[in-house]
Amino acid sequence: MTAIFAQTALLADGWRKHVRVEIGDDGRIGKVEADAAPSVESERVEVLLPALSNLHSHTFQRAMAGLTERRGPSGRDSFWTWREVMYRFLDILSPDEIEAIAAFAFMEMQEAGFSSVAEFHYLHNRQGGGAYDDPGELAARICAASEMTGIGLTLLPVHYAQGGVDGRLLKGGQLRFANSLDGFMRLVERSETLSAGRDDVTVGIAPHSLRAVPVEDLAELARFRPDRPIHMHIAEQEAEIDETLAVLGARPMEWLLANHEVGARWCLIHCTHMTPGETVALAATGAVAGLCSVTEANLGDGIFDGDRFLDHGGRLGIGSDSNISISTIGELRQLDYSQRLRDRARVVLAQPGGSVGRRLYDAALGGGAQALGRSSGAIEVGRFADMVAIDPTRDGLHGLKEDFVLDGWIFAGSREAVTDVWSAGRHMVRGGRHIAREAISARYGVCLSSIMDRL
Ligand SMILES: [Zn+2]
Repeated sequence: MTAIFAQTALLADGWRKHVRVEIGDDGRIGKVEADAAPSVESERVEVLLPALSNLHSHTFQRAMAGLTERRGPSGRDSFWTWREVMYRFLDILSPDEIEAIAAFAFMEMQEAGFSSVAEFHYLHNRQGGGAYDDPGELAARICAASEMTGIGLTLLPVHYAQGGVDGRLLKGGQLRFANSLDGFMRLVERSETLSAGRDDVTVGIAPHSLRAVPVEDLAELARFRPDRPIHMHIAEQEAEIDETLAVLGARPMEWLLANHEVGARWCLIHCTHMTPGETVALAATGAVAGLCSVTEANLGDGIFDGDRFLDHGGRLGIGSDSNISISTIGELRQLDYSQRLRDRARVVLAQPGGSVGRRLYDAALGGGAQALGRSSGAIEVGRFADMVAIDPTRDGLHGLKEDFVLDGWIFAGSREAVTDVWSAGRHMVRGGRHIAREAISARYGVCLSSIMDRL
């Protein structure tokens, strides 16, 4: 049993002072007591919050940071030109490198205040294509990285079978993603074996997108693991809308909602280009909109219709996606800033009289836990002890109380404020640094230098 004593904490029933939290050996919260006295053995922290889940990541892309900010020789740079660089990059990565990059990204996520992650894992094959002897070779690397860093994991093996909605063949870097439907199902089974015995590792499924998955495969997959999380990219790009309209006769979200029973186990990534009708209809399903605001800004995708979605009771969570900059508060800040710039108005996603930081943090806690299929998102008896402690004074934010703490951290703070992070009770960040930072970082440095030499 471990005990934590917080000066203030955000509990399920709101802000409380002098909170003592006990964590059982099973990684779950055993007891929560407000107005308590610290015991001698308690870890003492300033502000204790439930930790967020990162609901969308492709860890290997962390190592591309800085390589895609040059404009091409002609025309406009876009998601599609970025994707060409990404395909060339991923095609040189070895399994060891994929593991080292994943460990580094997972460590950074924890240092930013995430306690768990859904890895949308779509690198399955050898360089240039062709299966490994073990179809789970690279899934095992992701699991190993999560074990090394102690981050909670929802592993989402990705099905990727075609190069466009019209069924064109895969080529180039896409060959490392390629799968048949049978092959994908074997990969899911193999991933389940890899996660066996680890309490807070979940396996879901991820049909990549309507671009990459034939409609008949999607129908099979929706039935394949009916109780597990199912994640899919959707409506990120305008060209994708046009392509889906041309081939399927409907916009992607319109088509999905008409053809599938989209409900609480679905997490739809991006949802950038939706009509007002689609936004309202998606909100009503109870599915989570997986927003990756920093990546969406970096790629020039567009702006999510956040106020309409939240006003209709929509559920959302945040993801670091391309991992260009891994930040809990950066994602939340960018989400509201995108709305402000569009509307030329301030504090768009708050309710009247309310704090925007609190509304977004609460939404992302609930939506993140739901999307990962993880019993977390609140400091409450029985849930996994996924918690983050912050010290606002490290950012010069003295004297802020309750929801002002969240507003201060999100809009004026930094990663420096994070002092401690627990993932299912594992105390992985202490004093602002991951406990295995030195080894993970050294391995990453060696691996990255070698990759850059080969590019
Ligand atoms: Zn993605």
